[in-house]
Amino acid sequence: MDYTYLILVLPALIFSIWAQARVKSTFQKYASVRAGMRGVDAAQMVLRAGEVADVAVRPISGSLTDHYDPRTKAIGLSQTVYGADSVAAVGVAAHEAGHAVQYAKGYGPVKVRNAVIPVSQFGATLSWPLLMLGILLSSQKLMLIGILLFSAAVLFQLLTLPVEFDASRRALRALEDCGRFDEAELDGSRKVLRAAALTYVAALAVSVAQLLRLLMLFGGNGRRRR
Ligand SMILES: [Zn+2]
Repeated sequence: MDYTYLILVLPALIFSIWAQARVKSTFQKYASVRAGMRGVDAAQMVLRAGEVADVAVRPISGSLTDHYDPRTKAIGLSQTVYGADSVAAVGVAAHEAGHAVQYAKGYGPVKVRNAVIPVSQFGATLSWPLLMLGILLSSQKLMLIGILLFSAAVLFQLLTLPVEFDASRRALRALEDCGRFDEAELDGSRKVLRAAALTYVAALAVSVAQLLRLLMLFGGNGRRRR
């Protein structure tokens, strides 16, 4: 614990915890508002609107575990989304279908983000052990490599933002265009998706704060050496 942790990482962590709590409470609020359509139907509607015919929609276990798997071309919707007729379920299901449409259309930012996945996973696994080793052996080189690897993981989180925002944009456009929802229902779905997007922003903020802290500690270390 040092002052860089208090001024950089701690505020970002608090923001992240708040964003996580907010997405849960927003989802819960709109999970009790009927939409006149189940999650699974909303996902299929978005797929049809995006002219995607080869993607399956399946029920999965868990809560807020909804995702699109491009390898199996399947949208997994959780219990409170798949068969649920609610504004929250419709929003989340449409968002996941938005991801499937991105892949089908060859959306550029998805390709860019996926291209950095191997490097970022490598970076996420090895950066902290290398940093610790660098500090232990007081090796500037090892610390620098650790910071660079950590940056690769941060880059992945940064590139995730446009992908997430675009999936929500596609989802909301399809929900609007289908003409089955009134303004209040659309607004509820929008709020659920905004709350979900904020958790990605918060996760990025935590990583950027950690990166800045590492750079400050690294810089301070270098100055003391000289
Ligand atoms: Zn998403």
